[in-house]
Amino acid sequence: MQVPFFRHGLSPEVAAAQVRAVVETPFLTSGPVGKQVEAQLREFFAVDHALLTSSWTNGMVATLLALGIGPGDQVVVPAMTFIATANVVRLVGAEVIFADVDPLTLLLTPATLAPVLNPRVKAVIPVHLYGQMCDMPALAAFLKDWPGVLLLEDCAHCFEGRYRNTPPGIHSSAAVFSFYATKNVTCGEGGAVITRDAALAERVAQTRLHGMSAGAADRFNQGQYRHWDMVRLGTKANLPDLLAALLPEQIRHVETQRQVRQRLAETYRDAFAHLSWLRLPRWQPEQNHAHHLFPIHVPGVMRDAALTALNGAGVGATVNYRAVHTLSHYRDTMNLAAGAFPVSHSWGEGTLSLPLFPSMREEEQDYVIQQVKLKLTPLAQERGVA
Ligand SMILES: *Cc1c(COP(=O)(O)O)cnc(C)c1O
Repeated sequence: MQVPFFRHGLSPEVAAAQVRAVVETPFLTSGPVGKQVEAQLREFFAVDHALLTSSWTNGMVATLLALGIGPGDQVVVPAMTFIATANVVRLVGAEVIFADVDPLTLLLTPATLAPVLNPRVKAVIPVHLYGQMCDMPALAAFLKDWPGVLLLEDCAHCFEGRYRNTPPGIHSSAAVFSFYATKNVTCGEGGAVITRDAALAERVAQTRLHGMSAGAADRFNQGQYRHWDMVRLGTKANLPDLLAALLPEQIRHVETQRQVRQRLAETYRDAFAHLSWLRLPRWQPEQNHAHHLFPIHVPGVMRDAALTALNGAGVGATVNYRAVHTLSHYRDTMNLAAGAFPVSHSWGEGTLSLPLFPSMREEEQDYVIQQVKLKLTPLAQERGVA
């Protein structure tokens, strides 16, 4: 059997009709459809401002530009995340500072953040890794002693996640989402920035569109062209309506889909509970976990062999992620001590992600579970870690 890592849930018929409706309007990019989706996001997250972007990366670059973060500033990101979280900091000319993560949840906490804070830090970007939210109230309370430091959320894994009933976007200056092809809500490529700060929203509206003072749809008023100005440096980060049209239906059903993910994740957890050589991130109480990914951790000495064995059996297992500071670009450009960020490092050496998506069939999941036990148990025994 072949079980892919991910299968999106879009129906060709529904998606074709959604795209067709945009093609029938005069303008294919950020226009009325994008505005409707932004209104839906404002309602979903109960925030005053939502801006669609062409990706998480472009949305976060636009946000950092809007906040004036650049050369001379430091931004803290966890060492256990996808590379984009760190890359955006360098793309705006600021300095990346890594922090380690909690050994049980793999999330940034006040305790892991404290050792790296210093007066040059202008922002911290906690990542709601795998779909589980960081304790944002605790991070915000901790940063009260550091009044110049902004909190920004990497919500690429956590659109529908909640911590103590609180969604992303409440305890930060801005929260940024990804609608990339494998994310829980997707239009192939896309993203969004939400914020409660009206002045920041106005600046992001400019930095996502070259720094122009008015979007294309607003440059004509009743057939009369008006000059625009360029008020700050921006990038090109707006989302075409052609892609935005795929989102509303998914947002409406995202909580039902989350419950399906939750059941699949619990089935995996229960099936692996007795395997001494396998561990899972700890799930916090009082939360809705978005279960974007289902990572497991095996001893580092058997991880790559485990990956090869699972892929060879048709199971689309991947790695999310090797610690960012161990990858060539960061390793070669930073002067890091040996053994830096040990929790992120060792999680990254042993983690692998199993297929998890709402349309996964029972026999597909049974097969993955069977193959994990059948193929990985002998690897653990051979290496003396079972
Ligand atoms: C996918 C991802 C991103 C980047 O999202 P894009 O939309 O591809 O730019 C950023 N952070 C994390 C944690 C991700 O998984």
